[in-house]
Order: sequence, then C-alpha cells, then structure tokens
Amino acid sequence: MSLNVMKLCMLKDKIFIVGPCSAESEEQVAKTAAMLPAGIIFRAGVWKPRTSPASFQGAGTEALEWLRNVGHPSATEVATPEHVSLALAAGIHYLWIGARTSANPIAVQAIADSIRCVSDAGVDPTTITVLIKNPVNEDVALWLGNVERLEKTNVRVMAIHRGCAHRPCWQMAFEFRRQRPDIPLLLDPSHLSGDSRKVESLCCEAMRLAFDGLMVEVHPEPAKALSDAKQQITPEQFCRILEKIESDMEAKAEDLTLSELRKEIDEVDDELWRIIAKRMDVSRRIGAYKKEHQLDIVQPKRYEEILRNRIEWACAKHGISEDAVRRIMADIHEESVRVQL
Ligand code: PEP
Ligand code: MN
Repeated sequence: MSLNVMKLCMLKDKIFIVGPCSAESEEQVAKTAAMLPAGIIFRAGVWKPRTSPASFQGAGTEALEWLRNVGHPSATEVATPEHVSLALAAGIHYLWIGARTSANPIAVQAIADSIRCVSDAGVDPTTITVLIKNPVNEDVALWLGNVERLEKTNVRVMAIHRGCAHRPCWQMAFEFRRQRPDIPLLLDPSHLSGDSRKVESLCCEAMRLAFDGLMVEVHPEPAKALSDAKQQITPEQFCRILEKIESDMEAKAEDLTLSELRKEIDEVDDELWRIIAKRMDVSRRIGAYKKEHQLDIVQPKRYEEILRNRIEWACAKHGISEDAVRRIMADIHEESVRVQL
C-alpha cells in the first residue's frame, strides 16, 4: 500500500503526531514528512531542551519555515512566550509543552499568558491546540493544574503521557483521565521508553488502553539523528505500526459483531427451549387423555399428517430444508411419545 494513500479508516478518530525529534535540515524535514501518511500532524522540535549545552540545541527559528511547508498540519515544542509568538506567526497551530517546562508552573503560566496576548492581538485561540506533557516528576496534580492554566486561554487542550525516567506511570495517566475524561490523552512511546525496540508494543498497548492518540518520533535514518537517536523509528516502521493497529481494531470490531450475534442466538435458543417445553406439556396432557380413553399412544396416521403439514409450513414459510424438518420432527415426536408413556 502506498504510504500517502494509506487510509486510517478505523483510526480516523485517533490523533497521530509524528515526526523527528528535531528539525535538523530543510531536506530532512521535507523527506520525513513526505514518507508519512495523510491525516497525521507532523512534529519536529525547533528549540530543544537538552541536558547538555554541548548537545544539538535545535535549528532554531529558521526551522519554523521548513515546518510550514510539510503538507501536514505541524506541531513544535514551545518553552517560552517568545517561542509561542514565533511559532504562531509561522502558522504553526499545534504547540506542545515539554516535560521539563511542564514541571515549572511559572513557565507554563508565562506561556498561557502569552497565548492570551496573541488572542488579544486578533489570533483566534480556538484554532490553537496546546498539548501538555506530564511533568518529568510523577506529579498528576501539577499536570492537571497546567491544563487549567491553558484552558483559561480558550485554546484546545490535550495531554500527553510520556512516562517518567523512561518508564510508564500508568497510574498517573489513569488518574489524569479519571479527573479529566474530557481532555484527549495521547501516549508518547518514544520518550516514555527511550528505546525504538519498545515503540511498537507501546503503541499497541496505548490503543488497548483507549488512549486518544500517539506522539511518535520518526527519522529517515534514526542512527544518524542529532537528538534521541536511540528511540526514533523510521517512517516505514511507523506506517507498519499503523497498519497493525488498524488490523487489530478491525479484528476487535469483528469480535464485537460476533459476540453480539452470539448473544442473539442465546436468546433465540432460550425461546426455542421454552416452546419445546410447552409442546411436551401439551403432549403430556394428550397422553393423559389417551390413557383415560384407552387410546393407543402412537397413531401412525396422525404422525404422517403432522409430518406432511410441518414440512409444508417449515419449508414454504421459513425456508428450512425438508430433510432438516424430517430429522427434527422425528426427534420431537420420539420425545413426545416418551412423555406420554
Ligand atoms: C520532545 O517531544 O521532543 C521532548 C523533548 O519530549 P519530552 O518533553 O517529553 O522530553
Ligand atoms: Mn526527542
């Protein structure tokens, strides 16, 4: 299947934010974006919050232009009010707040205030989506508080679970969802694991846990990535994961249909036994009458007549085969004789 025409049929309600950890060059951004299917939101970090100042710090403001031309809606990380105004000015309407910034309520409030300023300057805040990652420390209250700070600006708010110290904190994610079921919650398997080998199983797990989407880091040549090389997968690998999720969901939908049909057949069988029991009750009463009037229990002529008109009814009215009617009626008749004895 061509990647660009891949249809995300079962996945149309899920949100996929996919792209490299960092925008490294115009060519890398364009190449990666072209390998991703329509319907995704393209991500790339422009200003990178790195542990060491010696590491690649991102291509900076210049890279915003590269993101503008990817042919997908695009998303970038903002950590300061200046980032917000530069990204919005470049037409980037998906902004995410990273785990380090999310640990600092003053920084998050400054970002929220800057969004309020741009909306005062005429940008419609409802066209902006801000995704807030969980803080690096396992603090659900801080994560929820950040959501409240952002909601006051009228932007669309989403949350991303990216784990803590390369491990999932499911309890924190579930507690977040329990308190805010109205906020879409995505999983970031890349930062959560720090390991490209774990990304596929985490994506599938996220779908089983009913996350609303994924944020995944992809790079055309992960080994050469300037940041987070160990956790990035290729766009092809991502597309295969999507196909797997899609087929898992189809199988689940089939299971649902099957279980509904099974429920229906259980109800029909219940009705069937109720009717058979009713028939045996009538047989018992006929048996008592025959005994009282010294009549034979088995009257071959009567059985032939029953069989003839049952075949007529069942075949013509209900499309049941003559052979089946003969076999079923023979069993029913045998049991009727037994209850009359
Ligand atoms: C990122 O998504 O590029 C990133 C830096 O993530 P986190 O804030 O979760 O570490
Ligand atoms: Mn990264």
